[in-house]
Amino acid sequence: MFEHTYARLGEDFAADARPTPVAAPRLLAWNDALAASLALPETWRDAAAQLFSGNAWPEGARPVALAYAGHQFGHFVPRLGDGRAIALGEWLAPDGRRVDIQLKGAGPTAFSRRGDGRAAIGPVLREFLLSEAMHALGIPTTRSLAAVATGEAVVRDEILPGAVLTRVAASHVRVGTFQYFAARGEDANVRRLADHVIARHYPGVQGAPDRYLALLDAVSQAQAALVAAWMHAGFIHGVMNTDNVAISGETLDYGPCAFLDEYHPAKVFSSIDRHGRYAYGNQPPIAQWNLARLAECLLPLFQRQGEQGVADARAVVEGFAGHYRSAWLDGLRRKLGLATAHDDDEALGREFLAALEAVAADYTLSFRALAEALDGEPAGLPRTPAMDAWRARWQARLAGEGRGVDEVRAGLRAANPALIPRNHLVEAALAAAAAGDLQPFEAMLAAVRRPFDHGPAQQAFMAPPEAGQRVTQTFCGT
Ligand code: AMP
Ligand code: MG
Repeated sequence: MFEHTYARLGEDFAADARPTPVAAPRLLAWNDALAASLALPETWRDAAAQLFSGNAWPEGARPVALAYAGHQFGHFVPRLGDGRAIALGEWLAPDGRRVDIQLKGAGPTAFSRRGDGRAAIGPVLREFLLSEAMHALGIPTTRSLAAVATGEAVVRDEILPGAVLTRVAASHVRVGTFQYFAARGEDANVRRLADHVIARHYPGVQGAPDRYLALLDAVSQAQAALVAAWMHAGFIHGVMNTDNVAISGETLDYGPCAFLDEYHPAKVFSSIDRHGRYAYGNQPPIAQWNLARLAECLLPLFQRQGEQGVADARAVVEGFAGHYRSAWLDGLRRKLGLATAHDDDEALGREFLAALEAVAADYTLSFRALAEALDGEPAGLPRTPAMDAWRARWQARLAGEGRGVDEVRAGLRAANPALIPRNHLVEAALAAAAAGDLQPFEAMLAAVRRPFDHGPAQQAFMAPPEAGQRVTQTFCGT
C-alpha cells in the first residue's frame, strides 16, 4: 500500500512531477529478494519494464519531486531538489516498514534546471551493483529494486544508452532538506520536517526533554556508525555534500564512490574532488562538518535559545567524535578477531594499517588473510619486519583471550569480507552491459551478494587490479 505522508507536509516540500514516457523500456535487473521482503505485488515484476520506466505507475502512486538545498564541496546552493528523480510514494510493508520508492532518471522535474532528468545505463547499473554489495556487507544503504533500459539515448560527453533506476530508501530526507527550509527562514517548516523525521526514523527521541537536540544526537550516532562502517569496508563515498547525506543514516547517492584496493588514507577516486575534500581518511571529519550544518538548521527549535542553544548544539556536534570513535573501535576489534576491549586496541589496529600503508598492501585481502595468519603461514599478508612483529603481538593478544582458533577464525571471516566490488571489474562489467552483454554484471552481482563467502563465484572477482587495470578516477556520470 502506498502512503504519502511526506508529500502531504505541503507543497513547499514536494512538487508534482510526471515521469516522461520512454520509447522502448526493457528490464535489465530486478531485485527479487528486496521485492519479497517488502511484499511488493507480484504483478509488479511482470509489468516492471512499464512501471519502473515511468511509462505506467503502480496503483496508488503519487509522483513528486522533493525540494532540498545543499553544500556542494563547501559551497551552499539554496535550491537543488530532485532534478532527475521522481518519488512514487511511501510503500508500507506488512511488517510496518515504510520506504520511499523513487525513479531515478525518469525525466525532468521542477528542479531540473538545465539538466535532462535522465540517467545513463552505466551509472544506473553501478548504483544497483554497489548498493547491493553494501547491503550484503551489512552497511545501511538505499537499495535498488529495478533497472530499466529506456531505449533512448542520453547525451553526456558521449552519447549513451539511457536507463531508469528504482531506488528504495528509508526516506529521502537529507541534511540538505533541512537547509532548504532553514535558508528560507521557514522555521515552521523546519519544525514540521523535524517532527516527520522523528516519527519516521527516531521515535525514541519523542519523549526526550529537548527532542530536537536529541534528534541531532540520534542523527550524529547514525552518521558515526555509518561512516565507521564505510571506513572498515574501505568505502569512499566520493560526494559527501549535505544533499547526499540521508538523515536516516543510510548510504545515499552512488556517484563516483569506490572501494580501496591498496590501503592509503588520502585515497581519492572522484574526478571532481580535486582537493581531496572527500578523501577516504577525511570522511569522519566531513561527516561531523555536515552534522554542524544540520545543527545550524535546528537551532531555532532547541529549548534553550541564544548563546545557550548554540552551546548545546556545539556539545552535540562535538560528541560526534566520541560516537565515531567507539563505533570505529567496535568494528576494529571485530576485524582483528578480538572479543574483549583493551586500551591498546586502537594502537594495535593503527599499527596494522601502517604496515599495510608502508607497502601499499591490498586492504580487503590483508584483513581477510588474518583468518589464515592465526596459526599457519601468513600468506596474503605483507612479509615485512613490521608486519611480522605486529603479527606476533596480535597472536599474543588473542592468546590472552583464550578462545579456540576455530572460533576466532569464524569471527574473522564474518567480519572481513573476501570480496568487495573491485573498481576495475565494476568498470568492465558496466562496459559489457552498455554494449548489450549483461552476463558479467549478473555474475558480479551474484558474487557481491555473498561477500563473506570464499567460493568460486567470489574468487572470480577477488583479485586486485594488476598495474594496467588500475582505475584511478571515477565519475559522477550524471
Ligand atoms: P548529485 O550529483 O546526483 O548529487 O546531484 C546534484 C543535483 O544535480 C541534484 O539536484 C540533482 O537532481 C541534479 N542533477 C544531476 N543530474 C541531473 C540531470 N541529468 N538532470 C537534472 N538534474 C540533475
Ligand atoms: Mg545527490
